[in-house]
Amino acid sequence: MLTWPKPRGGPQYSACHFCDTLHEAFPLPEGSAARCVRCGAVLYQNRPASLVRATAFSLAALFLMALVHIFPFLTMDAATLRRNLTLVGAATALIEEDAPILGVSIVLFTVITPLMLAGGMIYVCAPLMIGRTAPGAFGVAKWMYRCEPWNMVEVFLLGVLVSLLKLAKVADVHFGIGFWAFGGVMLCMAAAVAGIDREELWDRLEVAKT
Ligand SMILES: [Zn+2]
Repeated sequence: MLTWPKPRGGPQYSACHFCDTLHEAFPLPEGSAARCVRCGAVLYQNRPASLVRATAFSLAALFLMALVHIFPFLTMDAATLRRNLTLVGAATALIEEDAPILGVSIVLFTVITPLMLAGGMIYVCAPLMIGRTAPGAFGVAKWMYRCEPWNMVEVFLLGVLVSLLKLAKVADVHFGIGFWAFGGVMLCMAAAVAGIDREELWDRLEVAKT
């Protein structure tokens, strides 16, 4: 059974992202990939249970995002002082400590962008499972892929780890549940975005619309 419907009407084409070679895009069986004849790069992939994966991992990411904001991200013990820090709390502290651009960037790239990406993924993919498109799904999908490069959860996590190495000299730092949940958000977002091929999503939207 072909689970990735191709829009009707004439042959479909796919250009290689690396060398621009144009290929005729044939439907693929689940679990296989089409490669460029010139450079061997992957053109598109038909991933197994793609819609379910993208939706499920996005839902899991949303759930973990809630945990990130409910539980402390880091706990710092210095002398007699203990401080629990949440992600938004850290960003607010930066804004108050004369680093507003950094504080706003943290909120924008590690809170708002992942939220929009996961929400958009569910909004677009969930109705497609029953062959429907949500109102404005094309616009949402377009914005979702525009947002994707600005999802900097992993960059932030790496930054936190590096700064913790320095902080460990002056204070006792413990990771909170929020930190581990944030790591989970990173993995779930990566799995959700990789769960469905872009070409497949556009083809499914095109077919469901008609
Ligand atoms: Zn190529």
